[in-house]
Amino acid sequence: MFDLKEHPHRRYNPLTGEWVLVSPHRTKRPWQGQVEKVPLEQRPAYDPGCYLCPGNSRAGGARNPAYQTTLVFDNDFAALLPDTPSGTYKQGDLLRAEAQSGVCRVVCFSPRHDLTIAEMDLNAIRVVVDTWVEQYSELNARPDIGYVQIFENRGAMMGCSNPHPHCQIWAPSTIPNEPAKEHAAQKAYFDAHGRTLLSDYAALELELGERLVTVNNSFVALTPFWAIWPFEVMIVSRRPFSGMDRMTPEERADLAAAMKGVTTRYDNLFEVSFPYTMGFHQRPAGEEYPFWHFHAHYYPPLLRSATVRKFMVGYEMLATPQRDITPEAAAARHYARSRRGAPARVERRPLPAAERLTHAPAQVKTEN
Ligand code: ZN
Repeated sequence: MFDLKEHPHRRYNPLTGEWVLVSPHRTKRPWQGQVEKVPLEQRPAYDPGCYLCPGNSRAGGARNPAYQTTLVFDNDFAALLPDTPSGTYKQGDLLRAEAQSGVCRVVCFSPRHDLTIAEMDLNAIRVVVDTWVEQYSELNARPDIGYVQIFENRGAMMGCSNPHPHCQIWAPSTIPNEPAKEHAAQKAYFDAHGRTLLSDYAALELELGERLVTVNNSFVALTPFWAIWPFEVMIVSRRPFSGMDRMTPEERADLAAAMKGVTTRYDNLFEVSFPYTMGFHQRPAGEEYPFWHFHAHYYPPLLRSATVRKFMVGYEMLATPQRDITPEAAAARHYARSRRGAPARVERRPLPAAERLTHAPAQVKTEN
């Protein structure tokens, strides 16, 4: 009898139409054994050498204001430039290129050099959410912008060169690959069912309760059935809406709480400031697109401890991504950490007070 917990199988990602290979027989309890610890990095609240701290000068010669909450500025080393001339290059059907214009910005989350989303208070995270909404609304309305990608690279392991809490916004003139796949899949699902793909998916996950990480009144954080990264998380809005500009004030506050809940769990998992790439997917510029359902992806590289990471090489580069720990077991680890009154040694940082509102179905199972 085929068993998802025992037998190698592949899982379908309905958002992208791609598959992931799951090999649960290889490590049934991958968190057993010695877990290496890395001493927590102590950072100053202000670093005179940091180009993102208030009052400091940046590479381009500009000087940051003495900002109190968030700071937004055009990236001094932008990958996209707004004044790029339009044009195409074509040699037969094989060599194709198109000019790409766009805007790249940086958003500092806090004047404090030493904080992360997990460590900021909910009001401060809420200000970051408001800043994202402003930026998304402004850029998504521009005729020269096709898509607004907001993303955070957290930690040196993810190639982030500066620990000061910040994210980037890249807004190109066309829709990039990943949102384009989700655009097509969500449209096809909506056309067939009359509901958004992710509203049906979130409802299913709330019913099953096997992959939940944290839930509040507006958002579900879960490890997707088709997750590639060991501790991948997706935050999905419970109400279907197409972009962050459609959030109610309550939903903005709940998004802040969900993000703090997810990142706090991450930090507690291996007792380290957890590295990840995180970003939002939402409707492209131009139309309302009722099939688009706002969500965030977290892709963290860590596998077993603060120092053991997953590599996407070999079969994964050449064929299909693969994982050993099942998404259910990964979600149970987050969930167990938060629910079991785990020892203080594990709970490096208490979960936010707002999480007292969260709930999960009674049938949620923890695997250890
Ligand atoms: Zn997505």
